[in-house]
Amino acid sequence: MHKHVAILGSTGSIGTQTLEVIDKNPDHFKLEILTARNNADVLIAQSRKFLPNHVVIANEDKYDYVSQKLSDLPVKVYAGVDALEQIVEMDSVDIIMSALVGFSGLRPTLRAIRAGKDIALANKETLVVGGELVTKSAIENSVNIYPVDSEHSAIFQCIVGEEMNPIEKVILTASGGPFLGKDQAYLKKVTRDEALQHPNWCMGDKVTIDSASLMNKGLEVIEAKWLFGLKPEQIEVIIHPQSVIHSLVQFEDGSLKAQLGIPDMKLPIQYALGFPKRLRSDLERFSFSEYPNLTFHAPDLEIFPNLTLAYRALEIGGNMPCVMNAANEVAVNAFLEGRLDFFDMPGVIEETMNSVAYIATPDLNDYVETDSEARKIAGSYLL
Ligand code: MG
Repeated sequence: MHKHVAILGSTGSIGTQTLEVIDKNPDHFKLEILTARNNADVLIAQSRKFLPNHVVIANEDKYDYVSQKLSDLPVKVYAGVDALEQIVEMDSVDIIMSALVGFSGLRPTLRAIRAGKDIALANKETLVVGGELVTKSAIENSVNIYPVDSEHSAIFQCIVGEEMNPIEKVILTASGGPFLGKDQAYLKKVTRDEALQHPNWCMGDKVTIDSASLMNKGLEVIEAKWLFGLKPEQIEVIIHPQSVIHSLVQFEDGSLKAQLGIPDMKLPIQYALGFPKRLRSDLERFSFSEYPNLTFHAPDLEIFPNLTLAYRALEIGGNMPCVMNAANEVAVNAFLEGRLDFFDMPGVIEETMNSVAYIATPDLNDYVETDSEARKIAGSYLL
């Protein structure tokens, strides 16, 4: 039995690694849909290789180019954001890899859930922004959300078979990113290229900058709350520079379970798509002799205030995580474009969190409006 897969965001880091997993497991997966925002040439190459039934290019200006390049193949081509949101409802799809970047993932993922499709969730912002709405909708539609984020995949792997046993707490591990152990003076001078050099993981630009600023871990704290039904005090973050232990779960008897492995996103991708099966892989195997020292220490919240901001957003709830996320997306983009210093990103986020009107129980429209208001305010703090 094949699982029929749609990939939202196929040309990004998670999208391309998902295609590698599908390529290695032709007996288990059949590719149905590829979507990309802008990267027409990669989308065309992927389509020629994997022959999906449907392809969406979100940028409508590129429709003619993509459809002409694929005109000799039995691939249907669509364009536009609306098409991207509609395509997830196709009967032929069993599971959606949600690998869009940022807030843009919320609406199509929600639409897929409402159409009853299981979700492999790489787009953590979907849960950060709309966790309550998304998890409620998943329950109403009997949809499973399989985490792709390596920490949450680790926790998920630890709790399989523990359905009767409540989680006492989870411990999310963080590599600490490229600026681990640096002081404020150093952070004031870091460049885009330095921030994009992650020591362990191969990921997209957005998540790599978020890792360097520790906002990624903050987003993951909020993601963990929604995936596993936890209170803020049940979620701990620990710096583990080797990224071998991907996260841990502590149960009520005090026992800890951890999931370990070489850091490679293809493993959590494959676990999410293949669940409940563990498919054989040729990924590199872990060796203790090559990692004689696994080390752990608490994060430095003075140097990296983003983690504190994320816990604050989680405690306040409502639309506050949405505000924080939007301000962070603006700050990261501005940093990548050279319009904002790395060190000044948390200040923009905090000011925006202090300025946007609070909504205690937002609906989807409130999230869309909050996102746009927060982007406007965050933008006003830029150079
Ligand atoms: Mg992660």
